[in-house]
Amino acid sequence: MKRAADSIVIGSGIAGISCARALAQAGGTVIVLDKGRGIGGRMATRRVTLEIGEISFDHGAQVLPAQNAAFATLMRDTGAAAWDQDGGLVGVPGMSQLPRRLAEGLDLRQGIEITALAYRDRRWMLSSPGEAFQAQRLVLTIPAPQALQLLGPTHPLAGALTEVEMRPCLTLMAAFPPGSPRPFSQRSDPDHPLAWIAQDSSKLGRRTAAVTWVAQAGPKFSAQYLENSPEDIAAQMLPLLCDVIGTQPQTALHLRAHRWRYAQTIRPLGAPYLSDRATNLYLGGDWCLGARAEHAFQSGAAIAAAITGPAHAR
Ligand SMILES: Cc1cc2nc3c(=O)[nH]c(=O)nc-3n(C[C@H](O)[C@H](O)[C@H](O)COP(=O)(O)OP(=O)(O)OC[C@H]3O[C@@H](n4cnc5c(N)ncnc54)[C@H](O)[C@@H]3O)c2cc1C
Repeated sequence: MKRAADSIVIGSGIAGISCARALAQAGGTVIVLDKGRGIGGRMATRRVTLEIGEISFDHGAQVLPAQNAAFATLMRDTGAAAWDQDGGLVGVPGMSQLPRRLAEGLDLRQGIEITALAYRDRRWMLSSPGEAFQAQRLVLTIPAPQALQLLGPTHPLAGALTEVEMRPCLTLMAAFPPGSPRPFSQRSDPDHPLAWIAQDSSKLGRRTAAVTWVAQAGPKFSAQYLENSPEDIAAQMLPLLCDVIGTQPQTALHLRAHRWRYAQTIRPLGAPYLSDRATNLYLGGDWCLGARAEHAFQSGAAIAAAITGPAHAR
């Protein structure tokens, strides 16, 4: 298997995919590496098989506000559909379907965690347990704190990365038997410990063997319980969810918590990307411009434009 390319992109989230697509379209060789099992990073869908059938949860990004017209059009062209009358878009049959479809045709390798980087003889050397990769150009589209960890505190871009702030989010996925209460499809309440609750099974094209809910804890709850075990977090969040939706905790068919350590940007960089042209290094992700998937997409596209544009060719 090839382990060298013109460009290596670390991160198969929507930022990495938007960048890699544009670089590949411009004609360069590109490899995308990601430590996760599934494509899409925080645009994530988890599938579970229960006795009564298959169910799924969007446990990362919930709904894509269609504010950015170009992004909304691309998402619709990729198969996204409106969830409700507010016009927010969701992937069908799950949110991860959108990055998966956008990544079609790319050389993408999941399950590879890059643990060390070095720039030698005008090439980037990337190490992961048991494998090494090389490229002339490196694009990191991973959360800013993780980029800082990889590059180290003395790197010229470390100061800018330190300015970016991201916070965690604890997410509960819970399934209840068909016929269980469905009082609403989505609810946002910043004053409640569960700041966001969505009836995932109300989204278009979901596998609806059960009534499924996704609840996201607010910032205070998430920070307080981040280091607890997923089992403990699920046990804490379930009664809070059941209280809101009017269901008995003991009727839950499936329960799982996910800890997103770098979920949401609270202080963005304020520019679409960072770069160190001397070493052909580019850094991007949602954290550059905001907290949403469209910001990640814009950042990845801006990096590709900077690499392939006329200014770079000179
Ligand atoms: C709970 C939650 C709810 C959200 N709700 C919404 C919403 O409703 N609407 C919305 O628009 N946005 C929402 N977002 C935000 C949205 O998901 C993100 O803005 C967007 O998906 C970020 O994309 P990205 O490509 O920048 O980063 P990511 O999706 O985080 O991708 C980064 C990738 O890098 C990989 N990686 C990291 N380090 C390494 C390494 N060392 N080696 C290899 N791979 C590595 C990770 O595995 C990951 O796949 C939500 C996020 C969360 C967590």
